[in-house]
Amino acid sequence: MQNCIFCKIVAHEVPSLIVAETDQILVFKDISPKVAIHDLIIPKKHIQDIQSLTAQDSALMGEIILMAQQLARDLPGSQSFRLVSNNGPAVQLVSHLHFHFLAGKNLPDF
Ligand code: 5GP
Ligand code: ZN
Repeated sequence: MQNCIFCKIVAHEVPSLIVAETDQILVFKDISPKVAIHDLIIPKKHIQDIQSLTAQDSALMGEIILMAQQLARDLPGSQSFRLVSNNGPAVQLVSHLHFHFLAGKNLPDF
């Protein structure tokens, strides 16, 4: 998708700190971390948001959740984490489906 910053990160046209990668998923560090550990889990293919998912994306979504599980297992301390997805123009700055993986000490209350 032209002019999508996350598609450009997937294509390595924009640099990022990559945490993990599979055929379908990329995980990279948020450029402006809100907590100690703030990663973004995204599908490599451009999907706008959760509302745009179809039944064909079920396996992909499963893979995203299992990626969060793996990231938590790899944490140095507590395996507690929060997974957040902002959806829709009122709350979503980047219109490429993504999940904030938030972890570390002093996670703010939700
Ligand atoms: P949301 O769309 O859920 O509101 O948030 C988008 C997130 O993407 C923000 O936390 C922001 O810091 C992050 N972000 C925006 N542009 C870039 C970028 O070019 N690189 C990286 N690594 N993160 C970005
Ligand atoms: Zn995109």
